[in-house]
Amino acid sequence: MFKWFRKKQKPGGLIRRLFQLGPHSEGFYEKLEDALIEADIKASIAMEISDELRNSSQAGKLSSPEELRSFVRDVISQMILTVNLDPENNDNAIYLVLGVNGVGKTTSMAKLARRWLDAGRSVSFAAGDTFRAAAVDQLAVHAGRLGIKIFQQGQGADPSAVIFDGLESIKAKGEGILLADTAGRMHNKSQLVKELQKIDRVIRSKVDDPSYRRILVIDATTGQNGIQQAEVFHQALGIDGIILSKYDSRARGGLALSISRTLGIPFAYMGTGEGYGDISPMDPEALVESIMS
Ligand code: GDP
Repeated sequence: MFKWFRKKQKPGGLIRRLFQLGPHSEGFYEKLEDALIEADIKASIAMEISDELRNSSQAGKLSSPEELRSFVRDVISQMILTVNLDPENNDNAIYLVLGVNGVGKTTSMAKLARRWLDAGRSVSFAAGDTFRAAAVDQLAVHAGRLGIKIFQQGQGADPSAVIFDGLESIKAKGEGILLADTAGRMHNKSQLVKELQKIDRVIRSKVDDPSYRRILVIDATTGQNGIQQAEVFHQALGIDGIILSKYDSRARGGLALSISRTLGIPFAYMGTGEGYGDISPMDPEALVESIMS
């Protein structure tokens, strides 16, 4: 069932052992906070979780290690937000795919394309990262393998124009999904934000929500840096859902909880490998299990 566990064993065991010792063991709450932080949960949220447990435990509501553990599991579970971003109907749809370079944006686009092609949809790409020639080439390779159309122009072209072309084309056909790539050069943040906002305006002039979705890719191994990345893109455009890529790594996924809780952005998918089939809807239970291990 949990395919990624077979690939790479995630570190863990700390929280399980801690609960066996119980809340009266020395430094229990501090150790719990440390263990949650170790699982990539933001310190303030780890503290919030341990405070909730302390309050309920002191009020005499919980006693057995199993009750304590399941209380924390429920608290964590409620903090993780999820959303289904698969297309709801057969109408045209555009997905703007955002994220910092290297997080797995183009791979995730190919995975989504495969997923929706398998569901019988017509899918095409727009090569909106015109800043890096390699990004266009890479997307073209995926398009070739998947046998789908890619809208592209030369390096340095206006990304809004490339995406506009793709949009016009799917609109003319009346059905189809456009997955549009974007640049992710965080070293020039303000210029990037301006570029993304222009793309957003162009798309909005053509289509309305919910046919227009903004998906952000966050690498599960980036640690707390991922929160800042999410904040930048969310402030610039508003993010509908996140793909947590590289979840097959040793990362335990607390980053998803931190982003959900801090920014209120839901998680849509998780990337569980490099193959086109290695994407699945975000499974909050699996995430809670890996944090609580
Ligand atoms: P981009 O720069 O954001 O477009 O990143 P790429 O799509 O080129 O991905 C960067 C690297 O991460 C590539 O080697 C991908 O194969 C790898 N990658 C992407 N998603 C995943 C994932 O879910 N799991 C693993 N293990 N590797 C991934």
